[in-house]
Amino acid sequence: MLTILYRGPLASCDYDCAYCPFAKRRDTPEQLRADRAALERFTAWVAAQDFTVSVLFTPWGESLVRSWYRRALVDLSWLPNVAKVAVQTNLSCRTDWLSAASERAALWVTYHPTQVPYERFLRKVRALPVRHSVGVVGDPAHLDAARRLRADLPAETYLWVNAEEGRLYTDAEAAEWTAIDPLFPYSRFPHTTAGRPCRTGDSVISVNGEGTVRRCHFVPEVLGNLYDGTYRPNLRPRPCPAATCDCHIGYVHLEPLGLYDVFEGGIPERIPATWPLTP
Ligand code: SF4
Ligand code: SF4
Repeated sequence: MLTILYRGPLASCDYDCAYCPFAKRRDTPEQLRADRAALERFTAWVAAQDFTVSVLFTPWGESLVRSWYRRALVDLSWLPNVAKVAVQTNLSCRTDWLSAASERAALWVTYHPTQVPYERFLRKVRALPVRHSVGVVGDPAHLDAARRLRADLPAETYLWVNAEEGRLYTDAEAAEWTAIDPLFPYSRFPHTTAGRPCRTGDSVISVNGEGTVRRCHFVPEVLGNLYDGTYRPNLRPRPCPAATCDCHIGYVHLEPLGLYDVFEGGIPERIPATWPLTP
């Protein structure tokens, strides 16, 4: 199976989070048309493959406010060669359309406390008809909201916490976040990765709107192009060339961490195999 992290040119978002790590912009109609064409090319490619594919959409901005991503999630979820199709989203969109997706569709939802009323967000999550994880950025200003969300979500919904970029947590602070997400220690510090085996570049790839294939979103070396097939002979096991990896969508594939066991069956959408975790 090939796992693909797809990130097209879309870079606009309907939210404006202070901690947003992405270089957001207002997409012009022309940029939106280009993004749509790129996505449709990608989904047609997936449908034409004779091997199993798992897809995670990791847009720079919010994609589910665009009809072509909603359609892609539904359509891909029904393809016989798609094991899973998931998308990272702020869940600002309507959610009724998700009922048309198969059980292979999933959402990686992030709660942004300054951007959406709590009750509205909670109501939407509780009514989701597809598999999902929910998470927050570990900003101390949002600790109470995160605790409240953990208490109000069904026990079987995994609530993850991402360490805020550049923030150092004292042990006491880390313990507070770990009480909400027992897997927070994986996110607290960047992982030292240079020379360590990572599945990216072998069974996992990153693809942009032009079909340029890289091993992951963080290593710039190009492995080839998806659409002319030049990436394919370049897939093989290889060590990580970067000093560190601090993003879950990257280090989940780092072999020595063992996160494929923790998230077995739910890697793209970040759902642990067993949840709540058993001691
Ligand atoms: S929802 Fe995500 S992409 Fe949008 S502003 Fe917030 S962090 Fe950035
Ligand atoms: S460990 Fe992270 S940075 Fe290194 S190759 Fe894997 S995903 Fe990329």
